[in-house]
Amino acid sequence: MSYLAKNYNRKKIAFKYGKGSFLFSTDGKKYLDFVQGIAVNSLGHAHPKLVKTIRNQSKKLWHVSNAFQIPEGEKLAKKLCQKTFADYVMFQNSGAEATEASIKVARRYFYSIGKPKKNRILCVRNSFHGRTLAAIFASGSKKMTEGFGPKVPGFDHFDFGNHKSLKKKITKNTAAIMVEPIMGEGGIRVIPDFCLRELRKLCNKKKILLILDEVQCGISRSGDFFAFEKSKIFADIVPIAKGLAGGFPIGAVLMNKKVAAGMTPGTHGSTFGGNPLACSVANTVMDIVSSKKFLNNVKKSSKYFFSKLKKLKEKYPSTIKEIRGRGLLIGIQLHTDQTKFIKKLMDNKLLTIRAAENVVRILPPLNVKIKEIDLALKIIDKVCSEIK
Ligand SMILES: *Cc1c(COP(=O)(O)O)cnc(C)c1O
Repeated sequence: MSYLAKNYNRKKIAFKYGKGSFLFSTDGKKYLDFVQGIAVNSLGHAHPKLVKTIRNQSKKLWHVSNAFQIPEGEKLAKKLCQKTFADYVMFQNSGAEATEASIKVARRYFYSIGKPKKNRILCVRNSFHGRTLAAIFASGSKKMTEGFGPKVPGFDHFDFGNHKSLKKKITKNTAAIMVEPIMGEGGIRVIPDFCLRELRKLCNKKKILLILDEVQCGISRSGDFFAFEKSKIFADIVPIAKGLAGGFPIGAVLMNKKVAAGMTPGTHGSTFGGNPLACSVANTVMDIVSSKKFLNNVKKSSKYFFSKLKKLKEKYPSTIKEIRGRGLLIGIQLHTDQTKFIKKLMDNKLLTIRAAENVVRILPPLNVKIKEIDLALKIIDKVCSEIK
């Protein structure tokens, strides 16, 4: 009997410990973990530098209130701003908090310049921005919002890739467009660079803000620090979370000077957000994953993985429909439901996770080794050959 609520459909497996790309189950089996807590453990399990950081910081200071200065947070915010478009950072604890706070920043900006009616957020239908009340209604997904009414107002939706419907949905009350540069839960759908550039132009023309949700695709997961960087545009507001502290809960909103001006003292807060323990771990992660050398290595692993997966697609065209994604945010889209496929991968000791549109999502640690990718490929090949 489990006393945990039944809001998850959990696999019947538990783990005793992890090391790098591998997890060791309580029943003594070794699994190649290409879920990594859903793109959270950027450096795999029990990375020595992260273990050292958390051990040292835990002896000094875990938590103080945001009523005081927090040097670890100052340091992390500086790193994030120096690496990116951002001028200011506001720390949270999770992705949903970061996306909601981003919406607050956008609305507050227009309020502060005397346009309080400009408060609607335009999102992709069936996107994913987290599970809080506002975030589920931002997603425009029937499945996620069912039974959780009344509807949180203030969100409009357009269909992914439908530029006409996007333009039509912008009204004088639109404050911002919020999209994921690479949709994670939504099936590893990549917004092409030229679309991101058009999106930026459109926001400039309409004088509205661009919020790019990099909670999943950010922090070097795409092979660039941010997935939108490749398109050479700037965002106004960017929520981040998952990979930032390699497994320790943290979230953040990155923003430019213009919009940050609305966030005056008392407008937003968080008890835990940006505490010394979380920030010190994130500082160590940042030092590792944001270097050019590290990013080049992510690109190299990605290129290798994609080229081999594309060969598997050619070998099994009736099973694999498409290979999607960028960096180490990878989707194998199948022709049919992926449940059985994922189960078979797991029986063969490879852990993956589903995404929308029959996609098997593959999220190795960013420091994955080529021989671990080879092992995964061997298992995927085997399962393809058995399933067809
Ligand atoms: C996971 C995710 C969120 C929500 O993050 P939580 O930490 O689960 O609240 C928001 N946006 C995107 C794009 C995500 O992938």
